[in-house]
Amino acid sequence: MTLMALCSSNLCIILGLESDMARGHQKFQSQQKNAKKQAEIKKSKGHDQKAAAKAALVYTCTVCRTQMPDPKTFKQHFESKHPKSSMPPELVGVEA
Ligand SMILES: [Zn+2]
Repeated sequence: MTLMALCSSNLCIILGLESDMARGHQKFQSQQKNAKKQAEIKKSKGHDQKAAAKAALVYTCTVCRTQMPDPKTFKQHFESKHPKSSMPPELVGVEA
């Protein structure tokens, strides 16, 4: 095998190291790029979700899937319809 013969020489070891370094560097760069991309996606997604929630003003009951326009209604609904279920954390601080 030509490859085996080449790899037993010092030249191949040097080349191998260099290409490993190059690969490592490339990997690092693409990881950075990915992280940046992910952060941007996360940012835009979070913004969109917030905007969508504000526009729709819909809360979905975690037990029966009924949709309500605000947390007060949701809490009142939850307390009257599902008193035995544990309240979703987002309703705990809500004044019904
Ligand atoms: Zn319900």
